[in-house]
Amino acid sequence: MGKITGFMEHERVDEGYKPVDERLKHYKEFVFGLTDDEAKVQGARCMDCGTPFCNSGCPVNNIIPDFNDLVYRTDWQNAFTVLDSTNNFPEFTGRICPAPCEAACVLNVNDDPVGIKSIERAIIDRAWQDGLVQPRIAKHKTGKKVAVVGSGPAGMAAAQQLARVGHDVTLFEKNDRVGGLLRYGIPDFKMEKSHIDRRVEQMQAEGVVFRCGVMVGAAKEPLGKGSKVTNWAKETITPEQLSEQFDAVILTGGAEQSRDLPVPGRDLDGIHFAMEFLPQQNKLNAGDKVKGQLRADGKHVIVIGGGDTGSDCVGTSNRHGAVSVTQFELMPEPPAEENRPLTWPYWPYKLRTSSSHEEGCEREFAISTKEFMGEKGKLTGLKTVRVEWKDGKMVEVPGSEEVLKADLVLLAMGFVSPVASVLDAFGVEKDARGNAKAGTDFIGGYATNVPKVFAAGDMRRGQSLVVWAIREGRQVARSVDEYLMGYSDLPR
Ligand SMILES: Cc1cc2nc3c(=O)[nH]c(=O)nc-3n(C[C@H](O)[C@H](O)[C@H](O)COP(=O)(O)OP(=O)(O)OC[C@H]3O[C@@H](n4cnc5c(N)ncnc54)[C@H](O)[C@@H]3O)c2cc1C
Ligand code: SF4
Repeated sequence: MGKITGFMEHERVDEGYKPVDERLKHYKEFVFGLTDDEAKVQGARCMDCGTPFCNSGCPVNNIIPDFNDLVYRTDWQNAFTVLDSTNNFPEFTGRICPAPCEAACVLNVNDDPVGIKSIERAIIDRAWQDGLVQPRIAKHKTGKKVAVVGSGPAGMAAAQQLARVGHDVTLFEKNDRVGGLLRYGIPDFKMEKSHIDRRVEQMQAEGVVFRCGVMVGAAKEPLGKGSKVTNWAKETITPEQLSEQFDAVILTGGAEQSRDLPVPGRDLDGIHFAMEFLPQQNKLNAGDKVKGQLRADGKHVIVIGGGDTGSDCVGTSNRHGAVSVTQFELMPEPPAEENRPLTWPYWPYKLRTSSSHEEGCEREFAISTKEFMGEKGKLTGLKTVRVEWKDGKMVEVPGSEEVLKADLVLLAMGFVSPVASVLDAFGVEKDARGNAKAGTDFIGGYATNVPKVFAAGDMRRGQSLVVWAIREGRQVARSVDEYLMGYSDLPR
């Protein structure tokens, strides 16, 4: 612990944002990271409290008190070494992690928690700037070949870990660029894609082979008929071909099946999944041409779903120039402040207002959509009803029906499961929610019922977070290494 009285002397300072009117004009990141001096002061707030709840609150178990102390001492080199030992991609989490570590910080019991996420970002941004992030090339090759299917954070982390212990890793991706939802879900204004490109270069130098535009699945219609899931594959490889060519296969294909809202009028023109809308803008930002882009300009937009995906639709619609943006949430409005004695050190139930909400959005809680309405096949509005919960059941409030104007509805109600046909093509058993069935035991974890086939990330655990995907990628890598070599030195 650097400064014993730091937590009493210094207030928490959050990262700054560019003003709304300025950031709405572009899709670039608008958060200013902490300066070195600010990071030092924020690091000094850490109490090094002996039992670091933050460390277990972080899914990759970042060694937070140690890097806080090193930043306080301006030892950036060692702060990076500590951070890099647990997290392959801190520049991703330092930008878009919801920071469950901060909810678990002991200072959060009766004060503002340490700004752990902003310190994490300061360390890794500085490490890139100082040239500390270098490829780590394996000294010996094992001659074992591993295929990783899906290049989101889980697949990237697994591939990087396995290449670093000398396996020949090929990462297959059906889309045209690496990154999974980091690339085509999360908007550039939350995380610019150059962060992924830099890591791809590093991983290529470490020996990972990237094969984009390659779908792994059944030879015909691998995603199922009429699928709305993103797919820019030019080539298909079957599970049989993959099994012949590789010693182990890791499935990290995400949970791409969006939850639908099958109420009357669903087939009207103007109702789309968030994952039809968001990837198009990311492609345009990358310099691609998008024919017939779904646009929100001049429209009344209603986003159905109150989570991260919905919030990203709000931010993108406002950047397009929507006339109005409204976001629906089925659940009642949470309290503005959590009940800390009840919830600490766990993730608290409270109202969360994102930077996209601050850019302009009406938020409606406890509201359900009964019907989409339209004229000549085109969406014009939707019929809603207020809801409340009685004995754990949702009931409609009598007489609360309303018709709201809408030209564009974006469905952002989460993801139900991975694409079933991909798992079926491998013969992988599913759990009750349709995810790939595989445990997380220390020995033999992440193995599916199919010999030499493993699963990790959202494909195994269901829709989750980037930091959980990185954790699972690291852990499946250890499991696969152990399976191939009989032992593993990789961390779990
Ligand atoms: C819009 C949106 C915003 C989000 N915002 C946040 C946030 O702010 N913070 C956060 O922590 N989390 C956020 N999440 C969640 C987070 O992005 C995911 O939990 C995380 O990306 C999951 O990682 P993954 O590697 O398991 O899968 P994914 O990132 O989904 O990657 C899976 C990849 O596999 C590919 N693939 C699938 N099947 C095949 C196949 N058969 N052959 C070849 N390739 C295949 C897919 O094309 C995809 O690229 C958000 C999610 C969405 C949709
Ligand atoms: S990865 Fe997320 S939970 Fe872990 S230290 Fe960073 S912000 Fe906190």
